[in-house]
Amino acid sequence: TSQLADYFIELEEQYGAHNYHPLPVVLSRGQGVYVWDVDGKRYYDFLSGYSALNQGHCHPRLVHVLIDQAQKLTLTSRAFYNDQLGVFEQFLSQLFGYDKVLPMNTGVEAVETALKLARRWAYEVKGIPDGKAKIVVCENNFHGRTLNVISFSTDPQAKQGFGPYMPGYVIIPYNDLAALEKALEDPHVAAFLVEPVQGEAGVIVPDTGYLSGAKALCEAHRVLFIADEIQTGLGRTGKMLCCDHEQVKPDILILGKALSGGMMPISAVLADDEVMLTIRPGEHGSTFGGNPLASRIAREAVQIILDEELPQKADQTGAYFREKLQALNSPYIRTVRGKGLLNAIVVHHPHPDAAWQLCLLMRDRGLLAKPTHGDRIRLAPPLIITREQIDECVAIIEDSLKAF
Ligand code: PLP
Repeated sequence: TSQLADYFIELEEQYGAHNYHPLPVVLSRGQGVYVWDVDGKRYYDFLSGYSALNQGHCHPRLVHVLIDQAQKLTLTSRAFYNDQLGVFEQFLSQLFGYDKVLPMNTGVEAVETALKLARRWAYEVKGIPDGKAKIVVCENNFHGRTLNVISFSTDPQAKQGFGPYMPGYVIIPYNDLAALEKALEDPHVAAFLVEPVQGEAGVIVPDTGYLSGAKALCEAHRVLFIADEIQTGLGRTGKMLCCDHEQVKPDILILGKALSGGMMPISAVLADDEVMLTIRPGEHGSTFGGNPLASRIAREAVQIILDEELPQKADQTGAYFREKLQALNSPYIRTVRGKGLLNAIVVHHPHPDAAWQLCLLMRDRGLLAKPTHGDRIRLAPPLIITREQIDECVAIIEDSLKAF
């Protein structure tokens, strides 16, 4: 890294909490699939802000509505109505086929909201005795970082030393319908919370039929099926929602990340009235949730995904990308997997830090990616990436593997 880059890295090191371990690269500009560092070097962004940048960096339409709305009205709080929220709520509800939307900011807040809704529904509608509701979740899940959500994490790094933990969760293996069926025998189960593809765990794609099978089991036991589509949704896996691959409509749908195209934290929970209306005025909320700036940006961000046919692009480009990665036949790649443009390679190398080293080699050659859970490297560019650009990126990856 350059002296200039080192200066910014040192600042974060000295004055910022050490809750992340970034790849040593300091960025100052982004456009489309590219980012530039402080020294003017260009990179392909293969993390896309953990899939928040499906539309690409600084999409001109998003920049336009951001500036335009920022000059009119940014925040009313929910103490008053505004002329953007309802329009956004109607748009999102109708697009996904739900009665209502509950807007929040970060992904984990939307997860918390979904879990509160599930508990409320359990007591008020399903008739589970007060305080007894259980939520079934999967091993190796990632749903965010709050105390409640880490209470049902199985990752010691995320969980250890933060107790006491919230009770009421049952953890079963992922991609295991028999385990789910058994867990659902308990009449106190309110909901099943699942990632349609486990992103942070290293892009774990379940078997075909898992999501539809799980939904059917939930219906049979009158249990809510909650899909956390924060990372998988909004085109990333080659359909608007990952659940669309199996024609599954979740009872509660959680969106985040690309809902703003990377402009600001915007998340949302969608559900029908039977679930949504169990929360009444004063019982849940957020100062910034549903603010007019966010509402305007989110509506545009989703409209861009529709207008530019990003799900179809992700589907086609993703298949092409995996094919080309497989064809590298590298002894250092154990596995290539993914769906749409949510992909990962599992690195096979004696060096204990191999995935990190490979990411440094790719960085040097102009491609940014980050290891997740040791030997896995997620490869998830903005969905606007072209085949020609994919060719260039595969060449960078190949060259980096040769330098290993
Ligand atoms: N759920 C899933 C599936 C995620 O991938 C993430 C973030 O990576 C979250 C929840 C948490 O989102 P946020 O970091 O915005 O709170």
